[in-house]
Amino acid sequence: MRDRAKSLGFPDVLALANAHPGIPFGQLFRYLRQPESRDAPIAYAQFQAVYFEEAEQRGLLRDAIADTLVRRLRQHLRGGWNQGRRVRERKAEVRGGWELPPSRVSELGPIADRIWDTVNELNPPDDWCPEDFNDPIIQEAFARVWPSGTPPPKLAPSPRPNPNFTPTRQSRPKPKDRQKVPLPEDLVAFLGEVRTMIERGDEETTIQSDDLLQCERAYGGVTEEGGDYFSFTYFPDDSKRNKWHFTLHRSDIEMIADEALTEISLWACQTPGCGCKFHSKDETCFYCDYEDVEDGR
Ligand SMILES: [Zn+2]
Repeated sequence: MRDRAKSLGFPDVLALANAHPGIPFGQLFRYLRQPESRDAPIAYAQFQAVYFEEAEQRGLLRDAIADTLVRRLRQHLRGGWNQGRRVRERKAEVRGGWELPPSRVSELGPIADRIWDTVNELNPPDDWCPEDFNDPIIQEAFARVWPSGTPPPKLAPSPRPNPNFTPTRQSRPKPKDRQKVPLPEDLVAFLGEVRTMIERGDEETTIQSDDLLQCERAYGGVTEEGGDYFSFTYFPDDSKRNKWHFTLHRSDIEMIADEALTEISLWACQTPGCGCKFHSKDETCFYCDYEDVEDGR
């Protein structure tokens, strides 16, 4: 992995990450993986592990964890803490996706939960989105939970007593069921338009975003600047509650537009009455995989 970073001109993975502040971690990984054909493939978990290991060796674990939070905030809430659509859901995505050292999640997860609660309690301005981990709100939240220069605090996994008794949402992922899902007509029509826009090289298909591509029942965008993968959210009915979330390669979009591909595999939430479906079995259903936990109970 370090050789991979070196071949891109960086002494190690940490240096590569630091040279690209605010860029989503997944995007860094794809960048590092580009010379893939030359040697053994690398896994995302391995990439994360090496990043945190290098940071820890230099006594920078705390900064590295703050850094991955900032990257998530910039990925999901770039428009601001309380701005744009689906803010509550995007916040859940930030906390749910925040990368921690893979081997130490049970130890550091409760710390991350408390830091996340503290960010919420600090009530950031509506247009807040940190540039990097030197951001005053990020620094303050970390300082209150995990003071600089100290080892990670020992926290129990249960929520801490909170004088405000604010409910916090905790992720409790449930198993998903893999299904072949026929693509509805309106989604096929939308993806046909997207194909045309890709072929024209429209900006909406080259600038990384969650929702630059839109129709009545779906929105989506390219997952990285100039990339080949597009992620979409589709509302299969009028409820605005049920949604499908999936990622397609541009060649899939072409095949769907040409009606050569008429169904895709998705992981369905199994809660009775829930119609949410996902690209990966590890995604969390916003409605069914989180539980409100009253602090101080
Ligand atoms: Zn669900």
